[in-house]
Amino acid sequence: MTPNPKKMKVTEEHEEIVPITIDNYINGVFVKPHSNEYIPVLNPTNGATIAHVAVSNNTDVETAVASAQAAFSAWSALTIKARAAILMQFHSLVRQHAQELAQLIVQENGKNITEALADVAKGNETVEYACSLPQLAAGRVLPVSSGHVVCHDRRKPLGVVVSIVPFNFPFMVPCWTLPIALVMGNTFILKPSEKVPMTMHRVTELLQQAGVPPGVVTMLQTNKPEVIQSLIQHPMVQAVTFVGSSPIAKTVASKCRALHKRCTALGGAKNHLVALTDTCHLESTATDIVVSFAGCAGQRCMAASVLLLIGENKSQDLLDLIVKKAAAIQPGTDPGQMGPVIDQRSYQKIQKYIQEATEQCGATLLLDGRTWNQPGGGQWIGPTIVLHQSCNDAMMKEEVFGPCLSVYKCASWEEAIRIENANPFGNAACVYTANGGHAEWFLERFRASMLGCNIGIPVPREPFSFGGLYGTLSKYGDMDITGDGGMEFFSNRIKVTTRWPAVEDVPTTTTTTTHD
Ligand code: NAD
Repeated sequence: MTPNPKKMKVTEEHEEIVPITIDNYINGVFVKPHSNEYIPVLNPTNGATIAHVAVSNNTDVETAVASAQAAFSAWSALTIKARAAILMQFHSLVRQHAQELAQLIVQENGKNITEALADVAKGNETVEYACSLPQLAAGRVLPVSSGHVVCHDRRKPLGVVVSIVPFNFPFMVPCWTLPIALVMGNTFILKPSEKVPMTMHRVTELLQQAGVPPGVVTMLQTNKPEVIQSLIQHPMVQAVTFVGSSPIAKTVASKCRALHKRCTALGGAKNHLVALTDTCHLESTATDIVVSFAGCAGQRCMAASVLLLIGENKSQDLLDLIVKKAAAIQPGTDPGQMGPVIDQRSYQKIQKYIQEATEQCGATLLLDGRTWNQPGGGQWIGPTIVLHQSCNDAMMKEEVFGPCLSVYKCASWEEAIRIENANPFGNAACVYTANGGHAEWFLERFRASMLGCNIGIPVPREPFSFGGLYGTLSKYGDMDITGDGGMEFFSNRIKVTTRWPAVEDVPTTTTTTTHD
């Protein structure tokens, strides 16, 4: 078993973390990268080095793809039920090891333990869904014309498929694709985030224990864009999914399009919440908005980013409640606390947005999370709430990806819809109201493609597919991820038309069979 980073007693008062080594997982074994190069993985809560992760090069890409290709024929020859049975074992192992996986997530990502356990549970929901695919993947059969012509379809796997994933959900996002790709008969190469490689490194052992044969799942570790690009462009790689920032999503999707490869590339987000303060329930709305923007330190592609307030009388009451609830959050990784942001780069970027909005654009800081700076190291920034005068502030328009809420008071429903529709992203939007007709008015007009009413993180759960709006910065490529979109993505529908000659003369039986 891979050891987790251990605390080693150096002296009576002082403990030191012994970092683990994260190698590639190719053909069922852990192997060193050809470069023999590693980079540190840092714990965002204190900056300690907790692991060293391999930096693969193009030779590793070749080895990884060759092993996945070699494993394809035997894996795809199994029945879908046999593959699902292996995934059922995996599902059960994940449940057994949920605490251990969650602890790894806390260490490498900085989520609080409740959020880390939710990361594991949500990822395992997709595993559960994948186990139901034998029922859903059955094809259609239809007689289509006289003369005994019948059409049916058969689903076939694509071959070697690749998923490239971000840092913010170390288990759930890889599980958006891994179980569905496997059950549909593909072999799968994961490029984990170099910032959080430990969780999926441990998961390889659970997959092995569940009975996934060598080569069927590969983990290729690297932080080198040119190596990831080689992987994407490799002629034996049939399809690519990417989840991460918009500029890279766009590059991945255009590379795949040029090579006629199937691709889903999910990018960043800027999610708008509209609160109709005359009709929403103030207390539960305030709680939900705080959970939405500050949960996981705001590092969720479904997190609230902009709050649009509409209503003469109670907008200030709602805002006061939100500030009060957000101000009560404490730094830490225990339940109810808020963890740090992932790295220094992210920390600096968030600081810059707050500074620009307040010092250059005339926005008012209602809650300043910059006071959270921790002496023990790590990138701590508390919930931050900014009231804007203009929709043109960069903080109102660009992805911040931190625990920040931009608030803007709208004069009308139409103005709120204009602002939401004009933003270049298209992941999520939500309306808060107790009036169903008012809610429908907004749900019909929002541009984003994952919508909520009184729920600020409107993540569609299986069997609904997940994905932002195509044509915005939130989504490039072909289909949604997870759910039935995932099943379509990871298989080809082969259409078969058959005509069997009609039997003119039924042969007469010449021998008699007796049934005792
Ligand atoms: P990122 O784009 O920096 O990295 C994502 C992955 O891409 C990593 O594995 C990284 O190693 C790899 N990568 C880096 N350069 C590459 C290149 N040139 N070609 C191909 N791959 C490359 O994203 P991040 O900082 O890890 O994650 C945060 C971002 O992810 C945010 O923008 C967030 O909105 C987005 N995200 C989106 C969704 C969604 O469903 N839309 C879900 C989660 C996160």
